Amino acid sequence: MIASEFESLEELSDRLIDCRRCLRLVEWREEVAREKRASFADDDYWGRPVPGFGDTDAELVVVGLAPAAHGANRTGRMFTGDRSGEWLYRALHDAGFANQSESIGRSDGLQLSNAWVTSAVRCAPPVNKPTPSERDNCASWFDAELALLRRARVFLCLGQYAYHSLWRHLRATAVDLPVPRPGFGHGVEIALADGRVVLLSYHPSQQNTFTGRLTRDMFDSVFARARRLTGSRRQAP
Ligand code: SF4
Repeated sequence: MIASEFESLEELSDRLIDCRRCLRLVEWREEVAREKRASFADDDYWGRPVPGFGDTDAELVVVGLAPAAHGANRTGRMFTGDRSGEWLYRALHDAGFANQSESIGRSDGLQLSNAWVTSAVRCAPPVNKPTPSERDNCASWFDAELALLRRARVFLCLGQYAYHSLWRHLRATAVDLPVPRPGFGHGVEIALADGRVVLLSYHPSQQNTFTGRLTRDMFDSVFARARRLTGSRRQAP
């Protein structure tokens, strides 16, 4: 396990939100926050790195790619305020990991139980594509966060980018991994030698949900599996 320089996830989040390591992403996230989408013209955009969100004792960790320009980059909470988030939190709610399916802003009352939501890169990238150097810059935040999620045992990766980022983290932490890396596919389940499990899902982006590549049933089945793997230790309030 990578030793974290932070005492807690709260401390990590406090430091993360001031990060300006990636010049291109800093400029982009702030430009989007200044110019805004017309439908959110009255919103006060977050425009900063987005911390992980959820239960700090979580067994389930959901990993995405990066904040959406007018979603998490606007609201300041992971997967909040966009269509992907609607799919994600509805699925988490239906599987018993969330107290509500609605996710519209940081004060909407949403609470997660036994689940944590994060992403490999913390600043919204142009066209949802971080460069390799931006991904590498942000890996230290991702590594430190996962090290602090000490009860994590099921990693649910939304999309191939999240999967490959998680695999990089696991390799760096000297976990005995299958070789070669299993291919990405919806519903793929990878049991690690140390008892942890990696679950793979298509990302609930509109590119996948509008085209029917990812259906509600397909998405729900992965979260139902995550629920079985984490047991019924706790239900969302
Ligand atoms: Fe910092 Fe990560 Fe944002 Fe780059 S992407 S500025 S490393 S928080």
